[in-house]
Amino acid sequence: MAAYKGLIEKYRNILPVTEKTPVISLNEGNTPLIAAKNLVKKLGFKGEIYFKFEGMNPTGSFKDRGMTLAVSKAVEEGSKAVICASTGNTSASAAAYSARAGIKCVVLIPEGKIALGKLSQAVMHGAEVLAVDGNFDEALNLVKELSNKYPLTLVNSINPFRIEGQKTAAYEICEALGRTPDYQFMPVGNAGNITAYWKGYKECYTSDSDRYPLPKMMGFQAAGSAPIVDGHPITKPETIATAIRIGNPASWKSAEEARDESGGVIDKVTDEEILEAYKLIAACEGVFCEPASASSLAGLIKYIKQGYFKNIKKVKVVCILTGHGLKDPDTAVSNAVSPKKVKADIKEIIAAINL
Ligand SMILES: *Cc1c(COP(=O)(O)O)cnc(C)c1O
Repeated sequence: MAAYKGLIEKYRNILPVTEKTPVISLNEGNTPLIAAKNLVKKLGFKGEIYFKFEGMNPTGSFKDRGMTLAVSKAVEEGSKAVICASTGNTSASAAAYSARAGIKCVVLIPEGKIALGKLSQAVMHGAEVLAVDGNFDEALNLVKELSNKYPLTLVNSINPFRIEGQKTAAYEICEALGRTPDYQFMPVGNAGNITAYWKGYKECYTSDSDRYPLPKMMGFQAAGSAPIVDGHPITKPETIATAIRIGNPASWKSAEEARDESGGVIDKVTDEEILEAYKLIAACEGVFCEPASASSLAGLIKYIKQGYFKNIKKVKVVCILTGHGLKDPDTAVSNAVSPKKVKADIKEIIAAINL
């Protein structure tokens, strides 16, 4: 059996690469699809729930899928530097792949609104990190202008190679299930990922329409930053789920297309619902994702409670867990009970653990 060499090698025939493309890879992709059996029981769900755990990518989020291709193509085109705006994970990923490619990486982050794990990655990988006194949307406008005027390759998800790389996750799900899921629940921020999945599923459908019927795309924004649901850009987006704290998604239109073509929805969940799902995934299934990722399960729980699945039996649902929980240790620690203090004494320890 050939060793896994990353998604460009695996999906070469469906990606815009040639033998001349230098492959900049960290063996991203090939992430686990985990059956959430405990949750199915707990929620009394008449179907199957799977987590696509994208936190298992090399830098801890799905952004690596797009970045391997975007940076490989940038190097192929002779670029010496990439630039991105980021709520965190894009910068961590861009910094890692740039380090591997030996090119410069410039990152604009919204000041004070980035999880500690993500910032430490960008810094460790040697990116030029600039904190802009503005939100993500303002930072994105700046990098668009900079990449137009200077020799800097933009690696945000408006870079079409990002979408091409990210679509491979849909192929992996189809391969793991032997078919498409009936529903896919996922977070929506800048909306590149829902766009990418939908493209992937449509390609699978085209290759074999019996085996890969189109799933319904169920996207979830955080209530405090839900421009697509509310129908207008949000000037001051707020949410604990910093990865989807975006008021004016770049791929707004294609997210709506994914929703409408698939007969799905784009809806919102509150920070309370997100945190509840975040804790549930960790405690019930042993999977630690970051808060934004949990909006997928929060959305599913909301729809189960609303009776959306009342007359539907035996469905297969996939929830995308976009990033790893260790990215944002502050949110985890501040939402958990602190350790009990005990003396270094066996009796006291046994009394404390309620054996
Ligand atoms: C980037 C990101 C999102 C949002 O993805 P979009 O493509 O911007 O919609 C969600 N969760 C995590 C962990 C992310 O890093």
